[in-house]
Amino acid sequence: MKIRSPIVSVLGHVDHGKTTLLDYIRGSTIAAKEAGGITQHIGATEIPNDTIENICGDFISKLAIKDLIPGLFFIDTPGHAAFTSLRKRGGALADLAVLILDVNDGFKPQTYEALNILKMYRTPFIVVANKIDRLFGWEVHEGASFRETFSNQAKSVQQDLDNKIYEIVGELHKEGFQSERFDRVSNFASQISIIPISARTGEGVIEVLAMLLGLAQEYLTEQLEIDENAPAKGTVLEIKEETGLGVTLDAIIYDGVLRTNDEIALMLSSEDVLVTKIRSILRPLPLEEMRDSKKKFRKLDEVVAAAGIKVAAPHLDDVVSGSPLRVLSEDTDVEQEILNEIDNITIDTEDEGILVKADTIGSLEAVVKLLREMNIPIRAADIGDVNRRDIINSSIAYDENELHGAIIAFNVNVHPNSEEDLNNSEVKLFSGDVIYQIIEEYEEWVKQKQE
Ligand code: GDP
Ligand code: MG
Repeated sequence: MKIRSPIVSVLGHVDHGKTTLLDYIRGSTIAAKEAGGITQHIGATEIPNDTIENICGDFISKLAIKDLIPGLFFIDTPGHAAFTSLRKRGGALADLAVLILDVNDGFKPQTYEALNILKMYRTPFIVVANKIDRLFGWEVHEGASFRETFSNQAKSVQQDLDNKIYEIVGELHKEGFQSERFDRVSNFASQISIIPISARTGEGVIEVLAMLLGLAQEYLTEQLEIDENAPAKGTVLEIKEETGLGVTLDAIIYDGVLRTNDEIALMLSSEDVLVTKIRSILRPLPLEEMRDSKKKFRKLDEVVAAAGIKVAAPHLDDVVSGSPLRVLSEDTDVEQEILNEIDNITIDTEDEGILVKADTIGSLEAVVKLLREMNIPIRAADIGDVNRRDIINSSIAYDENELHGAIIAFNVNVHPNSEEDLNNSEVKLFSGDVIYQIIEEYEEWVKQKQE
């Protein structure tokens, strides 16, 4: 048995600072190289515990963080679309999430959406109130802990920040969450911590890392326990053509061990299962080596979870993003399990209702779950662009019941050849990349139809 690093995702409204925060965390840990630096995975960055301890100094010793958790495994692609795509059976791949807010801008549509997604998957999270350096009169202390920088601000600035934090507390309360500024939290199991930070100056980032490590240690160790000899389980991030390697897949392994020559099962866009044999397992070369080498990757014989890797294997072309990746085993019928999983997502629909299309298994699942909660009947739910067959079937549905002639399309396009069909039909398309906005537009349309 081994305890793996918790997988952490960053979510939040566009421009609130997701990328800047991840960049700062990577940059500051690279700077702390003497402590072991970071491990660059495919699609993720892992910060070892000792590096975090090194950055956090005494601060972490005050928290009595033991060496149980090996580190933090940050998914590099932020945002809720990535979060929902990165699924595993029964929930989200991420063990922990960071919901980022611009402290001067407050709650925005994608903030609510992220919150709902976290609620739906019951993912523990912290809130970071970002861009404190932009508060009027804020005095920057590069890289300082929040505690330190805060105590050095003028009273009026401290008051201003606290007022803004209380607005966030109020907003979270409306959404059903108890929260407090992190240093005033009395019960971490029932209250969400709000950490004021600047992703640009690094102020408060120390507390973010320490808090994530602390929460993982306190509440997640059981869920992070893995059998390092068990057949690997993972989730496919994306399918990519690489020069010299052909079609490869990028995946996050969250349990067990993956070895070269292992037979793995994956899900195809045709809803069949592909069984193929791993030719090679690849990781990015460390930055220093990448500079003087034409190669981008280094081959590994095996990896143990948590790991972000590229896999080269035959026949990967039609594997879907978000597909489970499972090493075949003698004890379980892995192929059947994958088939069951496909059934769960795609066939659990009503005879009548609207059509849902989305870009990945995870996003489809999220949209379907949200529509279900709102009692919106779903006739079919599929991955991929809106095609001619979708429009024909929706026209038929429209003839039976006008309200069923709708297509909800999340993060997908209308196939170019089908634009005209769509325009010539009564079918109503609701598309975009904010689920709530699409559903709101749909509801507005239903209301009008019913009047
Ligand atoms: P994302 O869309 O959530 O990934 O947001 P970005 O990380 O791209 O940030 C959006 C903009 O806000 C960029 O111009 C950043 O430089 C800026 N930004 C992000 N964090 C901070 C911060 O803490 N302070 C300030 N002043 N600007 C920030
Ligand atoms: Mg970004």
